[in-house]
Amino acid sequence: MVIDGHNDLVLRRWRGEPAKHIDLETAAEAGFAGGFFALYVPSRYDGDPPSTPYAMPMAAAVPFDEAARITEELFETLCAMPVARAETAADFREGEITAIVHMEGAEAIADDLSNLQDWYDRGLRSIGIVWSRPNAFAEGVPFKFPALPDTGSGLTDAGRALVRACNELGILVDVSHLNERGFWDVVETSTRPIVATHSNAHSLCASTRNLTDAQLLAVRESGGVVGVNFAVTFLREDGMNDFEATGLDEIVRHVDYLAGRFGIDHVAFGSDFDGAVVPAALGGVSGLPRLVDVLRERYEPDEVDKITHGNWLRVLDATWR
Ligand SMILES: [Zn+2]
Repeated sequence: MVIDGHNDLVLRRWRGEPAKHIDLETAAEAGFAGGFFALYVPSRYDGDPPSTPYAMPMAAAVPFDEAARITEELFETLCAMPVARAETAADFREGEITAIVHMEGAEAIADDLSNLQDWYDRGLRSIGIVWSRPNAFAEGVPFKFPALPDTGSGLTDAGRALVRACNELGILVDVSHLNERGFWDVVETSTRPIVATHSNAHSLCASTRNLTDAQLLAVRESGGVVGVNFAVTFLREDGMNDFEATGLDEIVRHVDYLAGRFGIDHVAFGSDFDGAVVPAALGGVSGLPRLVDVLRERYEPDEVDKITHGNWLRVLDATWR
């Protein structure tokens, strides 16, 4: 059973586009049990990133009214999908697809947090504070390679209040896309495990979207988890978008590094399916059994279980109480 840290299927459906990676008819057969389904309000520029080394400009902020309206539509899109909804870790079941309602970027949350409780009541259980753009709470990293994630200022007062409120309600706080100063502010503020739903190791691929060893250590210290992102440009040492030449070994390289240096309890999957260009050797959810087979050659059965679903379940259980 695979519980996954990030997918963008809702955005595709909202746009009326066919899925590229997650076929809901066959995904459960491939062991995909769902995970974090992102509600993401698109930026002004969008589409596949150019071949790297690249430096995309920072995306513009999205106003609250626009974000609130689009997020409402995205949520309705998710509600219309044939998937169950997770509000406790026990809701995930083999052979079923279960969705965690996740906002990727908190633009649809009012900066006085007045609608946060309402969203919680409707099933919101995870918030990525930012996408790669500034908002009322923090600043996301622009996409750059090679570059460090220390790209701007930290959490605003509203950002700290958001982290505290999420801790209290039992909403998971996700630091993927957040810049480094914001990351350390979350570490300082949060009383729950620190989670990067879809990021990789910066020492293996020097993208701003990946975490430095110091950040990875902080994730470990908090009892948190990093979901390994299958996006080719966040995996490869050269940062190139060469999906045909990228094998499963590039994913395994990041899993091995995280497990070896920071412990088997802190690594999971965060595929970025239907939101990123992934290795041709994987293809999509249909390739998950092949990836799990490669891990079985390298890890004990209980360790493979932790990577594929156990670590996510542990963190969800610790956060949603
Ligand atoms: Zn993302």
